[in-house]
Amino acid sequence: MLRLSFGGSEDSTHNHVMATIYYDKDCDLGLIRARKVAVIGYGSQGHAHALNLRDSGVDVVVGLRQESASRAAAEEAGLRVLAPDEASAWANVIMMLVPDQVMGGIYAESVQSNLEPGDTLAFAHGFNVHFGEIAPPEEINVIMVAPKGPGHLLRRTYEEGSGIPCLLAVYQDPSGTGRALGLSYASAIGGGRAGILETTFKEETETDLFGEQVILCGGVSELIKASFETLVEAGYQPESAYFETLHELKLIVDLLYEGGLSWMRYSISDTAEYGDYTRGNRIITDETRKAMKEVLEEIQSGAFANEWLAQAREGAPVLHEQRAANRAHQIEDVGEELRKLMPFLDPKTAP
Ligand code: NAD
Ligand code: MG
Repeated sequence: MLRLSFGGSEDSTHNHVMATIYYDKDCDLGLIRARKVAVIGYGSQGHAHALNLRDSGVDVVVGLRQESASRAAAEEAGLRVLAPDEASAWANVIMMLVPDQVMGGIYAESVQSNLEPGDTLAFAHGFNVHFGEIAPPEEINVIMVAPKGPGHLLRRTYEEGSGIPCLLAVYQDPSGTGRALGLSYASAIGGGRAGILETTFKEETETDLFGEQVILCGGVSELIKASFETLVEAGYQPESAYFETLHELKLIVDLLYEGGLSWMRYSISDTAEYGDYTRGNRIITDETRKAMKEVLEEIQSGAFANEWLAQAREGAPVLHEQRAANRAHQIEDVGEELRKLMPFLDPKTAP
């Protein structure tokens, strides 16, 4: 059982020390309001951080290249936009929200020389610091505030008055204010409404990569495709297969989200529950668990990070090939047609 040294209370059933979760009452919004924050990048996370900070009364600018396609959107939203180096020089908190595979280059080119002692460099994912692509000087504070959800939901939930849980980590803290400032930042983007959990750059980076590879993105996508193909190859209508293997997944995930595995199983039929216990472990086998361990080891050793950074330097050929091939999958065409007929949906198509 993983034991973290961040304090907390005993959970008697599993003999696990429950970690402390921080909420708005534990955060002093005044700290981040007293700073000047540069958000570098205006993509999924960047737009949500910048807008939520602004609406929480924080002095924020967005750092974007002159030719950036996001510039117009940021300016239309009423945000001040500067070049990344100007934004870094102006700010004393710099949040890096550009794609991980280009972040090291942007840091070296525009941020590094504009850091001053007492400044705080912030991240929403530990990748570059943990794998050594960015090595900030000792006199700079380095923290992470990582929302556990996509940017558009970070913005939407903030506007609705709720929030997305955030992970907080302090990597180096010469000023001694890292945790308090991180809590303040997390609260300003709405994280204090849902809960802020303290972690380390190592734990966040490795668990985040593991999650997206093994279950959230890689594992789920492959289960969807394989189960869809199995049904279609057996002669069932692709539309039935789509409803069963993709559409209905949301209904099950909603139950899991609301009340865990037991609530999902309470809500489904006894037949479904019996099939779950007796068939699920024939799909996720010892071989699958072994593969999960191997995937984790590649993350921990840095082999995955090296592979991906090398790919990115060559223009990410595998990513582009796979993106095109996966978009051409039958389930995508069937799904697109069916979603048009669901008036309650606001159907989305990837650009
Ligand atoms: P993104 O791809 O959505 O957006 C990146 C933005 O960076 C672009 O919109 C653009 O404004 C800018 N940009 C892109 N290429 C650039 C370049 N070459 N030079 C300068 N600026 C450039 O990125 P994202 O998904 O928001 O990820 C940002 C950070 O947040 C990453 O560290 C990521 O791991 C982390 N994160 C993302 C999510 C998520 O749901 N997307 C969740 C948690 C953490
Ligand atoms: Mg992630």
